[in-house]
Amino acid sequence: MLSPAAYNVLRRQGTEMPYSSPLDMNFRKGVYSCAGCDTALFSSDAKYDSHTGWPSFWKPLPHAVATRTDTSEMMIRTEVLCSGCGGHLGHVFTDGPKPTGLRYCMNGVAMRFKAA
Ligand SMILES: [Zn+2]
Repeated sequence: MLSPAAYNVLRRQGTEMPYSSPLDMNFRKGVYSCAGCDTALFSSDAKYDSHTGWPSFWKPLPHAVATRTDTSEMMIRTEVLCSGCGGHLGHVFTDGPKPTGLRYCMNGVAMRFKAA
């Protein structure tokens, strides 16, 4: 069962409040998986502190996520979806660090962390 907060993000494209997720400042070694279907999404190796208040990564695990154009809220953004269940995870932006230059801005409530 998803928590109401996770449901709001994964199934209703919601956004959690910045700095609300304990995963934002979690830098332990491990894997972040989808709270909806348990698909492994990101490795801690690609996590960094973007100072945005949301857990941020510079690359997903291979084939873990899908993207589509999101024109809601008067912005053109690239939505990031779980490849397993199609759940909304967040957005990806092009102001990330090397080597990809990408910033996967994720909702922590949509993910579960498993320490390595
Ligand atoms: Zn999923």
